Amino acid sequence: MSNPSPIQLRRRRIAALLGLLLVGLAVVVIAFGGHGSGTSGEKSVRSSTQARQTHGTTHLAQRRDVPLLALPANPPPRTVHVPILTWHRVAVFAREYTKSIPDETVEPSVFAAEIDALATHGYHPISQLQLFDALFHGAALPSRPVLLTVDDGYVDDVKTILPILQAHHFVATFYIITHRFHEPGFLNTTEVRRLDAAGMDIGAHTRNHVPLATVSAAEMTEQIAGSRRDLEHVVGHPVQWFAYPFGSFDDAVVAAMHRAGFVLAVTTQGGTSETSQTSLTMPRVHIGRSAGVSTVLTCTSSPTACSGGGGGG
Ligand SMILES: [Zn+2]
Repeated sequence: MSNPSPIQLRRRRIAALLGLLLVGLAVVVIAFGGHGSGTSGEKSVRSSTQARQTHGTTHLAQRRDVPLLALPANPPPRTVHVPILTWHRVAVFAREYTKSIPDETVEPSVFAAEIDALATHGYHPISQLQLFDALFHGAALPSRPVLLTVDDGYVDDVKTILPILQAHHFVATFYIITHRFHEPGFLNTTEVRRLDAAGMDIGAHTRNHVPLATVSAAEMTEQIAGSRRDLEHVVGHPVQWFAYPFGSFDDAVVAAMHRAGFVLAVTTQGGTSETSQTSLTMPRVHIGRSAGVSTVLTCTSSPTACSGGGGGG
């Protein structure tokens, strides 16, 4: 066997270096793997300060990286079964200063019992990003997935709802009306940032809570794209989720939603399944004052049990 030539030696050295490089890459991939599996949005990046602030009661990220998403032009048809539940106010109705529509105010003890029941029965609230990844990338969802949503941005969100969700490590989406930041009884920008920092999803609900299908094209665009801009200014990352006030939408509204870059939007039409072709008109189930624990469990357990959406949106 002859000694290797200088060229052969150099080739061996290059091969060895390439091998080392591949091993290094593999280590990096393993260390940071799991992203893109549909659950990356929920990975904790909590600082020790945040851990102390929350007494370790939540694994939700202090501020998640929210990627800028886009709707695929021709997504492969895909249907997922994720009941999307809607609440509005969670407050003691008898003590409300300005009375809301009674059916939209759930008593705090009832809301707590509803969330307890979801936890006890093995439901797993998911984030908007998880739903997006499941619809458009086929990402796996946890067992018994459910999306919790709260409309209109009342102070109840931080005073009552957030602590109950955090006690269960649950994520929810809060749809905010952006021109009510200074109105009594509604969240201000600091409180919206608090929800965001707690790992909650922030979605837009227009600027003035107008029925979008009834306003001019210019007003519609301002309400849709404007509310997105307002919220992105507050939270500092893309805001890509939306709820139609009063469930009001038509083809022109959905086209404006596309132009504004929203990728997931909810109506007040009843139903508990979503499809990749209709992600801007997803159905929801209204949980009002008359609902209670048994209704919540019935609606989330059976796709056909709660066909009626209703509620004020
Ligand atoms: Zn509303």
